[in-house]
Amino acid sequence: MIKCDVLVVGGGASGAVASLVLSKKGYSTILIEKSKSPALNIPTKIDVTESYLIDDIVRDFRLPIIGESSLSKWFSPKVSFTLKSDIKDYFIKRGSESDSFDSITLKNAQDGGCDLLLNSNIDNVEVIGNDVKRVSIKKDDSKKITIYPRYIIIAEGHRSSFNKFIHSTNQSDNCPPISIIAYGFISNKLNIPENTTHVFFDNNYLPGGYFYFISTPDICFSSIVLEKNKLENISVSEYFNNFIKNNSLANMIAKVENKKFVAGSSTALCTSLTSNSNVLFVGDAAGLLDPLFGYGVRQAIYSGYHSANAIATNFNDNAIVLSSYKNMVTPILKENKNARKIRSEFVQMKNEDMSLSFFKRLLSLPSQHMHQVMEAP
Ligand SMILES: Cc1cc2nc3c(=O)[nH]c(=O)nc-3n(C[C@H](O)[C@H](O)[C@H](O)COP(=O)(O)OP(=O)(O)OC[C@H]3O[C@@H](n4cnc5c(N)ncnc54)[C@H](O)[C@@H]3O)c2cc1C
Repeated sequence: MIKCDVLVVGGGASGAVASLVLSKKGYSTILIEKSKSPALNIPTKIDVTESYLIDDIVRDFRLPIIGESSLSKWFSPKVSFTLKSDIKDYFIKRGSESDSFDSITLKNAQDGGCDLLLNSNIDNVEVIGNDVKRVSIKKDDSKKITIYPRYIIIAEGHRSSFNKFIHSTNQSDNCPPISIIAYGFISNKLNIPENTTHVFFDNNYLPGGYFYFISTPDICFSSIVLEKNKLENISVSEYFNNFIKNNSLANMIAKVENKKFVAGSSTALCTSLTSNSNVLFVGDAAGLLDPLFGYGVRQAIYSGYHSANAIATNFNDNAIVLSSYKNMVTPILKENKNARKIRSEFVQMKNEDMSLSFFKRLLSLPSQHMHQVMEAP
């Protein structure tokens, strides 16, 4: 029998950050990850995310960011502009390579004392009263381990299946799941100014989605992001190729060598921050993926940190842990509610309607109080 203060389920961005914070604060923490090495299920890619709400966390815990930029260039068939903003874009390398955000953060959590159990999945849980008291873990070699955690953080990503163990389903409170599909490549650097994000919209070629590329001193990353159920009968790679063929600025990436292509999808679920009185959901598992851009790493870092901090600050009082966590996540829930609204308008939009005022609304979501300047490119 193993006892611990916190069991974290899932070693992606949210679980790694939660484990790092808890272990640094001296709480006995076990992280279970179902893959056989850290972040093996996460493709090697560069996630772009705004620094908004996470810059202190990134600084205080020295989270590994591979680049940052205050400059982004936005293009649509109707308007183009350059955005200079107090909110930076962070570039975050994901996946199983040793220099990824996930690998480094997990390693730092282990150095702080967190036990990492790989090849491990939940087999069963025992609920007494409103608490999950016991979690039985099945290892790949069929060995079973029983853990008695005081708190559990569910960081399993958008395919979270924890609710099936407590016989609960997320009720759909007016939030049908939105599946976002992405396809792009990672490669050596592009011959463009470094540390700038270029974002393109064109609803003829990219229905309900967009195309972007970033370039850091060592790496470039380019991707399209589309809403899955808006796709016609062509593959996502064909959407990618059609767009770059028909966009003079974007087609420069056709010449990039050593491309490693990556595809993947994620789903903005109904929000579910807790289930039992000692269980906190974080990241994509909590339904925090932004339903407009399909961004989720900022939300994962933010919720991973605040779940851990709520536990560490109020360890002996479950009710206060849950309420302080919920309070901290409220700004993200508001953003996502607005993002859903804008997405429903955006998918219907014709190119000629993508005016500057539309982009102003789009960009005001996480940043209403920040200084932003839009200029013609
Ligand atoms: C192709 C693609 C491009 C993206 N681009 C961006 C981007 O540019 N910017 C951005 O902000 N976001 C982006 N996202 C979204 C972002 O990757 C996610 O929002 C983010 O990874 C969520 O982090 P997480 O920790 O919640 O889940 P994940 O990072 O998905 O981690 C979940 C982890 O839990 C493990 N796991 C699952 N079930 C179990 C279990 N039962 N037991 C143990 N372990 C388990 C998984 O193996 C995995 O390691 C993109 C997503 C995709 C697919």
